[in-house]
Amino acid sequence: TERTLVLVKPDGVERGLIGEVISRIERKGLKIVAMDLRMVSQELAAQHYAEHDGKPFFNSLIEFITSGPVVAAVVEGPRAIAAWRQIAGGTDPVEKAAPGSIRGDFGLETQFNLVHGSDSPESAAREIKLWFPNL
Ligand code: ATP
Repeated sequence: TERTLVLVKPDGVERGLIGEVISRIERKGLKIVAMDLRMVSQELAAQHYAEHDGKPFFNSLIEFITSGPVVAAVVEGPRAIAAWRQIAGGTDPVEKAAPGSIRGDFGLETQFNLVHGSDSPESAAREIKLWFPNL
């Protein structure tokens, strides 16, 4: 079994998609083992997106992720990382995310792509420690 970090980003919360996201996680058979609604500090945002530091969209990404509350969750199950990435869809909601995925169904812009998921076991471990240090 595997764990992954799931975020409903500020655009997803603002659009009222928390229930939609939770519902898809549960319908797939994945288990939510931790979850909360919170504001993200500049520090956490910069650490979470450290790999994008220096890219042209970095500052606007940090501004976006700190612009309103997010839902953070730890999701568990067999192949949870890949399973959630399939539910979320590709990064670009129009060019990459399949219809039927969250981004494919609800997204239009790459930055405002509604949700996040860890992309490997290493980033899952790093991100879960960052967001849920007491888990
Ligand atoms: P996430 O990590 O949020 O699940 P991802 O792993 O699919 O997304 P990354 O390439 O790690 O995508 O990018 C992280 C986030 O940065 C994206 O989800 C998106 O919000 C934003 N982003 C990525 N590429 C761009 C871009 N070209 N322009 C604007 N924002 C971008």
